[in-house]
Parts: sequence; structure tokens; C-alpha cells
Amino acid sequence: MSRPELRISAPLLRRNLAAVRERIAPSTLMLVVKDDAYGHGLPWVVETADAAGVEWFGSYDVRSALDVRRVAGGVARVFAWATSTDAEIDDALVQSIDLGVGTAEYLRRIIARAAALGVVARVHLKIDTGLHRNGVLREDWDGVVADARAAERAGLLELVGVWSHIAEASDAEDDEAQAAFLDAVRVVGESGPIPAVQHLTASAASWWRPELRGTLSRIGAFCYGVRSADGPELDGIRPIAALVASVSAVSEGDAVIGIGSFDGLPSTIAGAPVGTPEGARELRRIDHTTSVVQGWPGMAIGDEVHLFGAGDHGEVSATTLAERIDTVGEEILTRLSVRVRRVVVD
Ligand SMILES: *Cc1c(COP(=O)(O)O)cnc(C)c1O
Repeated sequence: MSRPELRISAPLLRRNLAAVRERIAPSTLMLVVKDDAYGHGLPWVVETADAAGVEWFGSYDVRSALDVRRVAGGVARVFAWATSTDAEIDDALVQSIDLGVGTAEYLRRIIARAAALGVVARVHLKIDTGLHRNGVLREDWDGVVADARAAERAGLLELVGVWSHIAEASDAEDDEAQAAFLDAVRVVGESGPIPAVQHLTASAASWWRPELRGTLSRIGAFCYGVRSADGPELDGIRPIAALVASVSAVSEGDAVIGIGSFDGLPSTIAGAPVGTPEGARELRRIDHTTSVVQGWPGMAIGDEVHLFGAGDHGEVSATTLAERIDTVGEEILTRLSVRVRRVVVD
């Protein structure tokens, strides 16, 4: 094995999905698959989740929403919330992608494209609840809701949902965000039927703050077994991916392995424990295309070293590595280069 592998476990993904869905019920899971499903590979993740009965996918941008549609077929609900170009809007409308809308301008463009194409846009309006990241401000909300309702009456739009995003930094802030969110839902309810779905929470709040959950919960990290940095372990959740490289040379009692910083391994994680056939050893140094690991008795060329994973060989999780360098597990996963082969283990 001359190329490093990200080995991804289908059974573990299925188990995590089941654990998350059980935990958040009766809220429905929207599996977030942005950034190529957090580096795990979107097609495979969507196929596995679709087969496990996941109905909603969150893709961030329209291009990956179309990828989800290709894999999951016409019945899946796919939510894309990046403000998109008119050409992307057209593709989304034709493929029945649900669009997250956080500005009056974007809403106007979607309505115009729906009119031009003769289709009904499925829209989830986003209220700003304090993050100031692409959401309609409270003072503009009534006007935007009125515009959406007018388009609905004209047969150009279906107001499917109301949503927002919260910081998950402190309970008090999240409580305030929820109050602002519920007020926005109330305004929508006064203008017509309450939309079918409301969604506010991602992994951490969905897991730990049941009272904040809406009818949908947008969850990425925990489904992939990535716990929050500085957060606790989670019942029934394990990392689904292991990063594996093999020994290419033995030198002065150390093992040289075929993965380096050019493959996306941060050189600053040197000193971390990694998994070897004889258990945990120190990752001594990370060079461009190779790294050096403290040796073990009987080490041989071709032996496998686990850089991160579920812990079966003495390695730690991506999040534990991330904590050493003040980042999050998602960043360790999404930085891995295309040279790292994604291999699905069933
Ligand atoms: C990434 C993202 C999520 C999922 O966050 P996790 O913490 O990975 O569960 C949910 N909602 C939005 C808007 C996001 O950008």
C-alpha cells in the first residue's frame, strides 16, 4: 500500500445514524454532507444513509445537492442553503432541491427563476438569530415573509420551512436564539399555514439540548463519529473513518510511513500517539511525503500505522488530534488530500 487510505466503515456509519436518530426522535435527521461528506466521500455516504432510510440531506451548495439527488434519487429531500447563482438556482429548481434563503435579494431571484421556468420553488426562510451569517434580520422579516406568501399565492413558491443556525457556544445564547426563532415562526404562522418543517440545531445542540430541536435536526459531525472539540464522548457513537499508512522503511529503530504534510496531515500534530501492530507509539515527525513513528518489536515494511481512528490499535480520534492543535476533528478530515484513497469497508 504505497498510498495512504482513509478506511471508512459502513456498519459504523449505519450504527451512528441509528444512534443519532434514536436520540433526536421525534425530530427527523437531516444528514449534512457538505465538504464531500466531511471528507468521507459524498456518494458513498448518501447511498448508505439512503439505504438506511434517511430522508433528508443537507448539502450546503447546489452542486453537491445535485450529486445527492443523483445518488439518492427523486424521493429524497435535499436542502442547499448557500446563496447561489441564477444558473445554479435553475438546476436546483429542475431537480426539486429545497433552497435555504437568508436574504430578500436571493428570494427575489428564486421567485424570478421559478416564474421563468414554470416550476414551484421549495423555500426554507432563514431568520438571523444572532450569528449574523446569512439570515434575514428581524426588522426585515415581516416583509420577506410577505414576499414569500405572495409568491406562494402566485403558484411560484412553496414555503416549506423556517430555519436558523445557532452558535452552540453557550446555553444562554442558544436560548435567546431559540426565542428569536420561535418569534419568527409565529410571524410566519400569522401570515398563513405554519410551514411543514422548522430547524435550528446542529450536532451538539441536537444531542444535548432536546428543548431546542425543531421538526428537523441538521447533523453532520456526530453521524460521522466526530465529537465536539473539548466535548465528551457520545453514547453509541464511534468514528467511522481510520487514516492508515504503511511502513516504507525502517531506520534506526523508527518506522518511516508513507504519509506526510502534503497529504493533509498537519505537521503540528507531531508527538501524538498513533496505532501500530504493537499498540500506541509516538508520531515523532511529519515531513512532506513521509512521517516517522517510534518503532516497535518486529516492525517490518508494509506494517500498517493508524494515524487516527476508533482506537482499536492504540490510535486516538481525529478530534483528539485536533485538540492538540486547537482545531476541530472536521478540519483534520477535510484537509486530507486526494492522494488519500477513500476505501469503504463493509
Ligand atoms: C455544518 C452545518 C451543520 C452541521 O453541523 P454539525 O456540527 O457538523 O452537525 C448544520 N447546519 C449548518 C447551517 C451547517 O453549516
